[in-house]
Amino acid sequence: MPGIKVMVMWNAVVLVVGGLLDVVCLVSGELQRFEHATRGGGALKFLVVGDWGRKGDYNQSHVAFQMGRIGGELDIDLVISTGDNFYDNGLKDENDPKFLDSFTNIYTAKSLQKQWFSVLGNHDYRGDVAAQLSPLLRKIDTRWLCRRSFLVDAEIAEFFFVDTTPFVKGYFEDPGEHKYDWRGVSPVKSYTAGLLKDLESALKESSATWKIVVGHHAIRSVSHHGDTQELVHQLLPILRANKVDLYMNGHDHCLQQISDNISPIQFLTSGAGSKAWRGDVNTTNDGKLRFFYDGQGFMSVQLTQTHDLEIVFYDVAGSVLHRWTMSKQPLQSAM
Ligand SMILES: [Zn+2]
Repeated sequence: MPGIKVMVMWNAVVLVVGGLLDVVCLVSGELQRFEHATRGGGALKFLVVGDWGRKGDYNQSHVAFQMGRIGGELDIDLVISTGDNFYDNGLKDENDPKFLDSFTNIYTAKSLQKQWFSVLGNHDYRGDVAAQLSPLLRKIDTRWLCRRSFLVDAEIAEFFFVDTTPFVKGYFEDPGEHKYDWRGVSPVKSYTAGLLKDLESALKESSATWKIVVGHHAIRSVSHHGDTQELVHQLLPILRANKVDLYMNGHDHCLQQISDNISPIQFLTSGAGSKAWRGDVNTTNDGKLRFFYDGQGFMSVQLTQTHDLEIVFYDVAGSVLHRWTMSKQPLQSAM
């Protein structure tokens, strides 16, 4: 409804986060946009972790400790969570102690006291979704920022966070014993169609050096769930057509890098923040597998304005498992 859009645009909100970093919230199309001020110098460094919230169990605390150590060494700007933030069934309400037990009291290192940007996973949809999105959580811990889909402009990079759970037909057609909180996403076909349209226009408008899309479900994966066919058919063509550099996800409890076979997109899974699935491998895949690890860990990403990128995967002891670098040619300006 145009009326609502205008009203929202006039209600652009400015949020100051913990004195550490400024996050300015504006609106681009229908997607909320946050501007994340970096510290200059033309570089951006961040950690990516997914599938983590288990009150420290299944080595979550050990992964968190190593994230703190590596985060300090790199002097990171922010942290990205790829979803399934709270097991097994999301948060039951805004006062659920799981928020403190699985987030605030786990990621305690000084280096991790930065802005966290989170998407929802399928397990989060099994709880009260509105609770995870609630501004009240930011009063408990100012690092927390979770939305269904949103944009973050971090100067040299632009992040496009996509709510992937509603795309997966199986959750609607065969939910088993699980109950999902679909309030706010019905009717789902128009919800996903609208989201793809907004994403496409935001990608087209972006002039960032690096375009990074984040969702919970993998587009390409050689692990338990394999490729998410709905995303291969509906989301991937938009990413390929709009020169996206990285697609980052969780859901499969592993670490992996797969290169697209017909575009420069790198598919990066960081879903190993706690419980991992040792030996759960499905080798059929259309992309080029560069790295796979079926244990716990996390990932760091460093980007520069001068078009250099470095991705590193770490295990639960903080040891480097895989390092990958690339430089891309800057776009030539029109004559
Ligand atoms: Zn999941």
